[in-house]
Amino acid sequence: MILGKCPYCDDGSIEVRDKEVSGKKVKLYACSNANWKTEDGEMYELTQNSTCDFKIWQNTLARYGKWLSYKEVRELLEEDSLELELLSKKHGKKVYYYKYVKLNQEYGVSVIWD
Ligand SMILES: [Zn+2]
Repeated sequence: MILGKCPYCDDGSIEVRDKEVSGKKVKLYACSNANWKTEDGEMYELTQNSTCDFKIWQNTLARYGKWLSYKEVRELLEEDSLELELLSKKHGKKVYYYKYVKLNQEYGVSVIWD
């Protein structure tokens, strides 16, 4: 499945890859021009024929209670930034809040903290 055009290279498209990290199934959203020798979530070394390094792990915001859906990644590719509902726990209470996230070449996405 293709989610959109790659923002980092000319002819790449963002595709969905099924991965397993520490026994958990997780999607990797990656550019069709990017391949890693290992994609287990820990080690990253691009293969020699890779011309791009776009990747977003579906669970990159899991610490904020957020797994990125196809729809959200599509929007992020179109709009550059996207408002998401995030979760944090304060004194054992769940607190939801809205923050914008944007693409980040190193981490996939990053939260904009004002
Ligand atoms: Zn690309």
